Amino acid sequence: MNKYSVKAFGTAAPEADLKPMNIERREVTAKDVEIDILYCGVCHSDLHTARNEWGGTVYPNVPGHEIVGRITKVGSEVTKFQVGDLAGVGCMVDSCRECESCKEGLEQYCENGNVQTYNGHEKYLNQQTFGGYSERVVVDQDFVLKIPENLDLAATAPLLCAGITTYSPLRHWNVGPGKKVGIVGIGGLGHMGVKIAKAMGAYVVVITTSTGKVEDAKRLGADEVILSSNEEQMRANAGTLHFILDCVSAQHNINAYLSLLKRDGSLTLVGAPEHPLPVAPFSLIPTRRSFAGSMIGGIAETQEMLNFCGQHNITSDIELIRMQDINNAYERLLKGDVKYRFVIDMASLKNEVNPSE
Ligand code: NAP
Ligand code: ZN
Ligand code: ZN
Repeated sequence: MNKYSVKAFGTAAPEADLKPMNIERREVTAKDVEIDILYCGVCHSDLHTARNEWGGTVYPNVPGHEIVGRITKVGSEVTKFQVGDLAGVGCMVDSCRECESCKEGLEQYCENGNVQTYNGHEKYLNQQTFGGYSERVVVDQDFVLKIPENLDLAATAPLLCAGITTYSPLRHWNVGPGKKVGIVGIGGLGHMGVKIAKAMGAYVVVITTSTGKVEDAKRLGADEVILSSNEEQMRANAGTLHFILDCVSAQHNINAYLSLLKRDGSLTLVGAPEHPLPVAPFSLIPTRRSFAGSMIGGIAETQEMLNFCGQHNITSDIELIRMQDINNAYERLLKGDVKYRFVIDMASLKNEVNPSE
């Protein structure tokens, strides 16, 4: 398999900073496209993985799964894209395509394991997959998304993970007019959840730990905001929500949030903290509540979400950073100090002096 070297930013160990490095990409095969990466969002999963908080990180690790750019090369059998097209890549770059989940368009739940955009297995080069903190990426056309032309490109990058991860469970649990929906944790995922749930026609209640986000949440589309540290507000809203999307990245008392659900309501976890979250049986039993989970979304649903965002003019609220600012951005992410998604301008990486040169 022919391969070539590209510049990237990655980390060599859980406690190490991210730094410039070279990685290898395969040359396009018949069904692959090559994408010149223009912007890449910074997801909290990048940080969890770079620091091995979920275990299983293979080093060096190059994160990044909110990728947008332009197609620079197409393989001989590529039919969906042409050189010059805008394109996006999210959290997956392949799956078995044969199992029940894959056949249903739920590649994220591939029973043989989907191939993640980073820290997955690159079968052609027999190495780990490397993500979007890099100049270029080579991906099978079936895992590449079309980007609506009317949206700001940098602010569209976060839709590839934060957008689909919130859109998919909101659709699955039939959020729409007449439903009162809580969104917990107004970071990258949560702020997209607010915008998308609102566009679906729901009554949206934000539940935040940050006093500084109370007013802003209304600008994002929230009808009401609850400060979770305010016990009186929490008590006053007990038993009022049909559905809650929990987008929190750190330890939190899940029972406090479950108490906000109506009878038969469900709380779906998309946030993935490092440690277990103890659920009290009586947070669920007396009101027949459900506690559920959801992972990103399938490729067809990701395209549906992008088209939905195109139609409703929905993008992420972003702070554009240079690749060289990534370590500081991770520290700020941990403090909830971003409104609401860092996006890396990849021109900054292209200007970086390659370490081997
Ligand atoms: P983020 O931008 O850092 O946002 C997390 C938000 O959680 C913060 O802004 C904060 O919101 C809230 N929060 C933080 N610490 C908290 C605490 N101790 N108690 C209560 N709330 C707290 O992260 P993100 O990129 O949106 O990702 C969120 C989580 O989803 C991460 O764990 C990530 O790995 C996971 N994720 C899962 C999937 C999936 O497929 N399921 C996909 C992508 C990401 P407030 O300031 O409003 O309280
Ligand atoms: Zn992500
Ligand atoms: Zn499969």
